[in-house]
Amino acid sequence: MPLIVQKFGGTSVASVDHIQRVAKRVARNLKAGNRVVVVVSAMSGETNRLDDLGMAVSERPLGREMDVLLASGEQVTIALLSMALTDLGYPGKSFLAHQIRIHTDSNHRRARIERIETGDLQTALAEGVVPVVAGFQGIDCAGNVTTLGRGGSDTTAVALAAALEADECQICTDVDGVYTADPRIVADARRLGLVTFEEMLELSSLGSKVLHPRSVEFAGRYEVPLRVMSTFEDGPGTLITMENETMEEPLVSGVAYARDEAKITMTGVPDVPGVASKIIGPVGREPIEVDMIVQNTGADGLTDLTFTVKREDYEKTLELLQPVTGQLGARDLSGDNRIAKVSVVGRGMRSHAGVAARFFDALAAENINIQMISTSEIKISVVVAERYLELAVRALHAEFGLSEAETESG
Ligand code: ADP
Ligand code: ASP
Ligand code: MG
Repeated sequence: MPLIVQKFGGTSVASVDHIQRVAKRVARNLKAGNRVVVVVSAMSGETNRLDDLGMAVSERPLGREMDVLLASGEQVTIALLSMALTDLGYPGKSFLAHQIRIHTDSNHRRARIERIETGDLQTALAEGVVPVVAGFQGIDCAGNVTTLGRGGSDTTAVALAAALEADECQICTDVDGVYTADPRIVADARRLGLVTFEEMLELSSLGSKVLHPRSVEFAGRYEVPLRVMSTFEDGPGTLITMENETMEEPLVSGVAYARDEAKITMTGVPDVPGVASKIIGPVGREPIEVDMIVQNTGADGLTDLTFTVKREDYEKTLELLQPVTGQLGARDLSGDNRIAKVSVVGRGMRSHAGVAARFFDALAAENINIQMISTSEIKISVVVAERYLELAVRALHAEFGLSEAETESG
């Protein structure tokens, strides 16, 4: 019997009615002859509410306690969905991460899954029980509760599918697949029939929150067939797949954006060896992710260095660099936390020159100033003022004709 891991996101389990509909959806899969392991997120808005509660009680709460708090949302939905399934005649059984033993490292709020024990799930499946697993959470080697980063239930699902060698992992959500851009911003965005792991990894790392980046990484590494589909509407969704020669190679497959960015600039830094390491070093030693880094050509023995971090790390990064500014004798430390990153991704960029020129022309035509640029083989990203985000995404989507092409190869 085929084994499917089916994950339902927050909007899919937002109310009692939704949970009962999800149970029916799972039952349909079971009736069709599949074995199913279900993964669920907390009810939509719940993890935000818990986060706000933690921040209201303490300005700098310990990661350990925040994880105990944040992980509680999923405990509610696994129990409710198990009850709903049992009422339909398909016995459901809820599992928290520590009951299955989803082992992670100890990096609270951004833990990585290291290993999953599958014994209890296999037993449940053999008994004809439907395991309903809490997404987003794990335990570290000391038994502490950890969470995988916002949106991390996708990663729980794919990691479980890999560990159980499932036939498919289905990410069921409020859109019917991966689109050429966030359909909430671009009304004529188009659903992609197929997208490669490589492109999907870029799209999600660059902000397309339809899939958690780590879930795509797992799926690529363990070759888990991964599909994004609608929870309540029938349809093929989007299959994330290995590249093969028969696939068409679109110049640009999609546009992604990340709103939660901030940039830090240190100006008038002595242009001598080791400066970048002295500035980025202290930030990199914290659990702060440094993204784009730009250092200007020096003039008069001085240079400027700008880099971006997540907006939530902005204040802390400025604080860390305050003493460094003095030590280096730099002129000034400044920042801007109202920036956003906009990117285009496509395998075809490898073999076609001129994408960058079209990208910059499209933004220039809208009078959007580009603050930073970064490129790789299959993507171009820029930083712009946050207020231009939507305009930039729409301009790029139109420039690369993404609403027009009707191809299943993405
Ligand atoms: P869930 O709660 O089911 O995990 P998310 O809100 O995390 O759902 O992800 C689904 C949302 O991702 C969609 O509602 C959509 O607004 C957004 N999104 C961003 N980029 C894309 C894209 N390229 N294709 C589809 N959805 C996208
Ligand atoms: N409930 C968690 C969050 O809101 C995990 C998830 O939805 O994937 O981030
Ligand atoms: Mg999500």
